[in-house]
Amino acid sequence: MRFDILTLFPEMFEGVLGSSILKRAGQSLEDPKDEQSPRPPAVSYHLTNIRDHTQDKHQKVDHRPFGGGPGMVMQCQPIWDAVRAVESQDPRPAMRVLMTPQGRTLDQGIVQKLSKERRLLIIAGHYEGIDERVIEKLNPIQEISIGDYVLTGGELPAMVLIDAVVRLLPGVLGDDESACCESFSDGSDGLLDHPHYTRPQIWQGMEVPGVLVSGDHARIEAWRREQSQRRTVARRPDLIAPDSDGVENENTRGS
Ligand code: SAM
Repeated sequence: MRFDILTLFPEMFEGVLGSSILKRAGQSLEDPKDEQSPRPPAVSYHLTNIRDHTQDKHQKVDHRPFGGGPGMVMQCQPIWDAVRAVESQDPRPAMRVLMTPQGRTLDQGIVQKLSKERRLLIIAGHYEGIDERVIEKLNPIQEISIGDYVLTGGELPAMVLIDAVVRLLPGVLGDDESACCESFSDGSDGLLDHPHYTRPQIWQGMEVPGVLVSGDHARIEAWRREQSQRRTVARRPDLIAPDSDGVENENTRGS
């Protein structure tokens, strides 16, 4: 998959796209057990600084809002020209995405749909936002929010979206199964993930549940399933019965 990211702050992405799984997804994978090795990279990231496309002699990309009010608004021309230049770099049509708190709230369903695309072009806004006319002109465009709060820019939301999408691409996670049964995924039956434990078996007097060291795989599976069900009822009853308010919320423990 190709990602085109249009931003005023491309340097913000370096650490995130250059680390861990997102970095590995951009490299070709050598696997001696895999006949097709080395596999081509699962993704490529292309960062574009919107400012490089401004026609303003002072390199400005924003201006005061018509009608007054605080802050600055990103102008149409640099964004429009940046999108057109970037889209012409590759014949694959891009699904355009604008990060905005006014968009559809990102969830695993949207992430799964986006992970089927061959190319995503993501625009990160800044300041008070973007001149509405260029958003209209860029239609069709998906407007996506990462939640009901306002950040200073669309860079962090874009990184959240990229991370969530990339880990679903085939071959990106070490074990292809590991994305299948997590909270909100298709294989989870609508349940939250069960709790996880690792070594040591006793830590600060707290022991790992005995069933997990029993070696009885059927019992372990049954225990995990029950834990998932309990957690979902306690923490996210809305996942099971959408109108439910829930009687208790385990997320508040310790607070
Ligand atoms: N004036 C806008 C409003 O009230 O809806 C908020 C603009 S915000 C300060 C600047 C930029 O940050 C937005 O254009 C968007 O790209 C990004 N942004 C902020 N919060 C976001 C969120 N929750 N989800 C996605 N993008 C967000």
